[in-house]
Amino acid sequence: MSTARTTDYTGSCLCGGVAYTVAGDLRPVDYCHCSQCRKTSGHFVAATACDSGQLTLTSDASLCWYESSPNAMRGFCEVCGSSLFWRPAHGRHISIMAGTLDPPTGLEAIEHIFVADASDYHTIADGLPQHAGEPGL
Ligand SMILES: [Zn+2]
Ligand SMILES: [Zn+2]
Repeated sequence: MSTARTTDYTGSCLCGGVAYTVAGDLRPVDYCHCSQCRKTSGHFVAATACDSGQLTLTSDASLCWYESSPNAMRGFCEVCGSSLFWRPAHGRHISIMAGTLDPPTGLEAIEHIFVADASDYHTIADGLPQHAGEPGL
């Protein structure tokens, strides 16, 4: 994160029933291949993150939360099916599926995580660091 962003990020689901803005900076993008991200996305998830206080929902008409594990909820649109958010049960951080942000994002993908859970059809060959589980593992 080099220069502070002066305009808010905007993003939405496919149908627009869920829309949001983010003030301030977003974390670089992680590619997560864990089985839950694989199932919910149909492939893998590209996620950035921020403090939950930076996120404002400008429309939550069709936002649903699914408890994907005892530790986390996933926010999705009940109309168009877009996967938008991942929120831990404890803590203030919220992950945002990077593809729901309106470009240009200025963000950069930096690593793959949970590659041990990637499916067998998928060859990761972009040269970014690969972690079997969480970063550092
Ligand atoms: Zn939608
Ligand atoms: Zn994941």
